[in-house]
Amino acid sequence: MSLAETGMADPAIPYYAPTGDECALFEHAYHHRLPLLLKGPTGCGKTRFVAHMAARLGRPLFTVACHDDLTAADLTGRYLLQGGDTVWTDGPLTRAVREGGICYLDEVVEARKDVTVVLHPLTDDRRVLPLERTGELLQAPPGFMLVISYNPGYQTVLKGLKPSTRQRFIALDFHFPPPEAEATIVAEESGLPRDRCVPLVRLANALRDLKGQDLEEGVSTRLLVYCATLIAAGMKPDRAIRAAMIEPLTDEPDVRQALLRVAEITL
Ligand code: ADP
Repeated sequence: MSLAETGMADPAIPYYAPTGDECALFEHAYHHRLPLLLKGPTGCGKTRFVAHMAARLGRPLFTVACHDDLTAADLTGRYLLQGGDTVWTDGPLTRAVREGGICYLDEVVEARKDVTVVLHPLTDDRRVLPLERTGELLQAPPGFMLVISYNPGYQTVLKGLKPSTRQRFIALDFHFPPPEAEATIVAEESGLPRDRCVPLVRLANALRDLKGQDLEEGVSTRLLVYCATLIAAGMKPDRAIRAAMIEPLTDEPDVRQALLRVAEITL
């Protein structure tokens, strides 16, 4: 009897609770060799989703957290000095292409502009990665898939994803899970009983409603999991809420007071 038939989760597959048809869409994209763009706020489950799908599909995963100094060479590779010799060392994108894995570029708009140049030939029907430095032209095998993510909330005029790049991807919009589902996720991840997670999720949603007024970003599912983890470990809920759901959101004393007030009213 397979694990699926027993209804038990496979411990080798990272836990991910779907909130829509995103798993089916990912599988279609993978089987039809289409690159995928995940849009959504930080901490809402994008990275976990990709880890879950890579394990389900049995593909190695190469995750890169992009930052503003990240160049194309960081992804493709470079010659490194090793004991007097210069040796070519593959970067994570090149490894994913060679090994037929999934390459996930998290917050891709943060990276330097030359990164898009290496992504373009991989995201159309050529599916090739030219390595100028080694003179190779790698053909991506069927198992290779490119997934990128970005947070539209952080967009600025300078740091957008250009239409010429974004129109090469099919896109999935991510949101925080609906309250019922989020309470289950937080309980599963933290070990805190679900009924004690429900009010935390209610508070998170009250704080999310303030986004755009006094707050740049609302409480992420990640912060909710942290808060519940602290409470499960024995910390007083008031203290845990302040440390995991209030302080990370603001440095302004007035705003902090207002958020604490929201917590008092909501809980
Ligand atoms: P993102 O990549 O969007 O910034 P993550 O994937 O790192 O966010 O999610 C942060 C945390 O939230 C995860 O480590 C996990 O604990 C939890 N999480 C969020 N959504 C889900 C989900 N649908 N199923 C399981 N865990 C989730």
